[in-house]
Amino acid sequence: MSLDNAKVVSWRGAREPAVRDRLERPLQDLRISVMDRCNFRCPYCMPEDKYHKDFEFLKTSERLSFEEIQRLVQVFAGLGVRKLRITGGEPLLRPSLPDLIGDLSRVAGIEDIALTTNGVLLAQQAAALKAAGLSRVTVSLDSLDEGVFLAMSGGRGTPARILDGIHEAISAGLTPLKVNTVVIRGMNDHTALDLVEHFRGTGVIVRFIEYMDVGTINHWRLDDTVPSRDLVQRISARWPLVPVDRNYRGEVARRYAFADGQGEVGFISSVTEPFCGACTRARLSSDGQLFTCLFASHGLDLRGPLRAGASDGELGDIVRAAWGRREDRYSELRAARKPDGDKVEMYYIGG
Ligand code: SAM
Ligand code: SF4
Ligand code: SF4
Repeated sequence: MSLDNAKVVSWRGAREPAVRDRLERPLQDLRISVMDRCNFRCPYCMPEDKYHKDFEFLKTSERLSFEEIQRLVQVFAGLGVRKLRITGGEPLLRPSLPDLIGDLSRVAGIEDIALTTNGVLLAQQAAALKAAGLSRVTVSLDSLDEGVFLAMSGGRGTPARILDGIHEAISAGLTPLKVNTVVIRGMNDHTALDLVEHFRGTGVIVRFIEYMDVGTINHWRLDDTVPSRDLVQRISARWPLVPVDRNYRGEVARRYAFADGQGEVGFISSVTEPFCGACTRARLSSDGQLFTCLFASHGLDLRGPLRAGASDGELGDIVRAAWGRREDRYSELRAARKPDGDKVEMYYIGG
C-alpha cells in the first residue's frame, strides 16, 4: 500500500505506558504469523501425515491483508509494543512481504522488525526485505548433515540452500543473524557441535532450542528434549564457554561467549528453565486471532471486529482487556500439568 514516509501515528500516541497483565508483565513484543502454509514438513511442527496435499489451509480472504495487519500493529504500538517478529508457517511464502515490512516500519513506536524463516526463499528476498526496513533475520537450520536435515524438514530443502540464504542475508546487512536449531534427542543432537564449529568466528549466533510440547500433533515426550545444560557441557568441553548477561529483561536465550573470543551461542530452554516471568510477547495468527501464550488453546478473534468496522480505540480496548486478563505461564506449570489435548499448533500462530 502507499503511505508517505512519515511515521504513522498510533491511536493514542506511542508514549502511553505499556499495558500490563495480571503478573505485571508489559505487552512489548508482537509475533505476527503472515502465512499458515509452509514449504517444509518438519515432523515436530507440521508432520506430513497430517499436513498432506489435501489439508485445508486458510483461504487468501481469511488471512489478514497487509492493511489489516498494519492497523492492528498501530493499535498494539499504542499499547506498548515496540518489537515485531514476522513468522509463520513460512513467512517468505507470503507474496510481496517486503511491502508489509515497509508498511510496518512506518508505524510510530515500532523500533525493531525481525523475521524467522526456514531460509529456503531467503537468498532471493534478502536485499528487498532489508531495503524495506527489516532489521534482522533468524534462520532455522537443524543440521548441516544432509540426511539429518532432511529427516528434520520432512524431506524438503538442503543445508546448502539454507547456507546460501544465510550468506545473502548477511551480505544484505540483516545482522546480527541468528540460526535457530531445535534439538531432538536421537534425531539431530549428534550434529549440534558441527553447527557450532561451522558458525564460530563468523558473527552468526547459533541458538539451540529445547524441543517443546507445542500443539498436540508432534507426539512430544520429555525424553526427546535434550536439556540445554547438557549441550552447554558438551560444547564447553571442546570450546570453553563463559556466561554472558542477557541483553535485556525478557530475552529468551541464555547467552554464552566462546572464551577464545570467537563469538557466542545461545540456548532457549523453555522446558528445563522456563522464562514465563519475563514473557512480554503476544502472537497474532494469520487469520487475526490473538494468543497470549504459545501454549494457549484458544485465541481471541480480532479480525471479526476489525472487518465489522471497529475503531482503533475499540480494537485497543479489546486487546487491553485480553492482556489485562492474562495469567499464562504454561512452561512454568508444565511439570505440574497433566497432558492437555487442545493446544494450538505452532505453525498456525508462529514460533
Ligand atoms: N517456518 C519458519 C521457521 O521454521 O523458521 C518460521 C516458523 S517456525 C514455527 C519458528 C520456529 O519454531 C522454528 O525455529 C522452529 O524450529 C521452531 N519450532 C517449531 N516447532 C517446535 C517445537 N515443537 N519445539 C521447539 N521449537 C519449535
Ligand atoms: Fe515449517 Fe517452520 Fe514448522 Fe518447519 S518449523 S514445518 S519450517 S513452520
Ligand atoms: Fe510466554 Fe507462554 Fe512461553 Fe511462558 S509458556 S514463556 S507465558 S509463551
